[in-house]
Amino acid sequence: MLGLRFFACNICETVMAVPTEPSRCHDCQNGDIAEISGTVQSDTYFMTSENHS
Ligand SMILES: [Zn+2]
Repeated sequence: MLGLRFFACNICETVMAVPTEPSRCHDCQNGDIAEISGTVQSDTYFMTSENHS
């Protein structure tokens, strides 16, 4: 089964439970998303983020 990961919007604090990191908040559409899952395997998720331009 797919492992859901948990992400929180840094702007409106909406929590999203999804298999992959959302590109933007499902609620306010902001791109400032932080993973809050306790199953992070390494620091690489900091390096695979979307372009922040
Ligand atoms: Zn939001």
